[in-house]
Amino acid sequence: MTTIGILDGYVDEPTCLGVPPYISTYPRYIAGAAWNVDRNNNVIYYTVDQIRRDRSLLLKLGKTDILIVIAGMIVPGRYLSGYPISLNEIRLFLTDLDKPIKLLCGPAARYGFGIAGGTKPKEASKIQNIFNGIIKGDCEIIIYELLDRNLDLEDIDLSKKRQNAHSIREYTIEGSRIIKQHPFYPSALIAEIETYRGCPRTITGGCSFCVETLYGKTDFRPIEDIHAEIEALYKNGIKHIRIGNQPCIFSYMSKEAGRKEFPKPNPDAIYKLFKGIHEVAPNLKTIHIDNANPGVIARYPEESREIARIIIRYHTPGDTAAFGIESVDPKVIEENNLKASAEQIIEAIKILNEEGRMRGVNGMLELLPGINFLFGLKGETRETYSLNYKFLEEILHRNLLIRRINIRQVIPLPNTLMYNIGTNIIRKHHVLFKKFKKMVRENIEQPILKKMLPIGVILRDIYTEKTIGKTTFGRQIGSYPLLVGIPGLYPINRFLDIMVVDYGYHSITGIPIPLKINHIPRETLEAIPGIGRKRANRILLQRPFHSEKEFIEALDNIDIAKSILEYISFKQ
Ligand code: SF4
Repeated sequence: MTTIGILDGYVDEPTCLGVPPYISTYPRYIAGAAWNVDRNNNVIYYTVDQIRRDRSLLLKLGKTDILIVIAGMIVPGRYLSGYPISLNEIRLFLTDLDKPIKLLCGPAARYGFGIAGGTKPKEASKIQNIFNGIIKGDCEIIIYELLDRNLDLEDIDLSKKRQNAHSIREYTIEGSRIIKQHPFYPSALIAEIETYRGCPRTITGGCSFCVETLYGKTDFRPIEDIHAEIEALYKNGIKHIRIGNQPCIFSYMSKEAGRKEFPKPNPDAIYKLFKGIHEVAPNLKTIHIDNANPGVIARYPEESREIARIIIRYHTPGDTAAFGIESVDPKVIEENNLKASAEQIIEAIKILNEEGRMRGVNGMLELLPGINFLFGLKGETRETYSLNYKFLEEILHRNLLIRRINIRQVIPLPNTLMYNIGTNIIRKHHVLFKKFKKMVRENIEQPILKKMLPIGVILRDIYTEKTIGKTTFGRQIGSYPLLVGIPGLYPINRFLDIMVVDYGYHSITGIPIPLKINHIPRETLEAIPGIGRKRANRILLQRPFHSEKEFIEALDNIDIAKSILEYISFKQ
């Protein structure tokens, strides 16, 4: 029996997220490879946050035979429940661990540590001396081979990739039980599911900044393989999944992939995929998607509408189809071979609004587009910012909804066209970028948020993740969940229903429902519409209340008291 340690420093790639509450495919596939060689192999899994909280766990990792560190951020975001491992932490945690064979995998191994948009990634070679190997290929394939060769690392090609998508089937099934070791298991953990790799647009070179094209032609996982993996995850207790690991869910199993840059979608395959998921995992609490190509949706509106309807039938509400639009400036689109024009993007947004704008059972709208802007691309000028801003005003003007607007700067990755251009444009437009972000937050995002979630809407199952000062922050589990600030301190790692009472620029303020009037903290009382500081004082002085009558009498305004009665619980 061999002991394999996995230290999950998290990944965030365009097609794969592994920052908690997400678990990426990496640890699952690696564990699956280890258990495929021998079911009795001992696989120990820790997240970097567990190590930060308890350094004694390093002693356990130090006794393993192989220690694999998963790391790398290609599209870094802001995280609430975990923070990616840094170069310094890798040095700090690993330098004294002499026994195990130490391997680095993930985007950090392939492209370097790109911890912030707008900077060139730092070479993984800077920490090469800590590791016995930097895996540039598929880590599950390397781990299988290493175990199969009795830990003889010599002669193993660390850039080796899987033969095809089907060849990992058994790893994905076997590896599903590793989820039980994740600190967010079982209630809040969400598993990222891969459906294919390789972008159909590879045949024209793909977008100038993107590494997905390095995988070559599109390689779809068979539908049965995906079902088998989800079934195994479900039997091991997963409650939330995201069908997010692919460049465009609408293009999955397209018969034209490999021949056409924008292949015609295949609604039959999407139907089989989503219907089958329901059959093998009938009570999942979350089924969401991620990336979608607006160029495909705009070109094939009928098929795309059908796919949207299939997804809405089988998914859970609050779902987001993320459009990586990057820019609507025609010059930037042309010079970077981007995927869609402004008109096509508007058309795709319109289609998803028409199909997915109804409110679902958890309070969120069923399915909306999200859009990602990327700045610092070739051909960018001052005019680019103005065109992008006008485009957003047009969306507002047309009363279209977007779940989120993500504004990032490019990370020039090796082997992409942008690598040679580097960060010159980013530095030149630094001030413009900041101004654009601010204007979008204030003038575009907040008005859209207000339309999407009017005051009084109830959002279900907000998972509390963190407290800062006297505010508790939480989100629903899913794809691009909305940040909710709850005034007052509440226990973390719990699910709460909340009522929308106010707005941040891209977050909302909510108060827990039912309102336990005899217990809730001052901050929550003050946030109740119509209550404010003075009435909160009055409530604090006069509680406990035993009945509606007592409560109405205690407040100086009968209308305000009555307006919140239906949400109040008088439980002692
Ligand atoms: S469409 Fe562009 S950004 Fe999206 S996966 Fe393909 S090459 Fe990458």
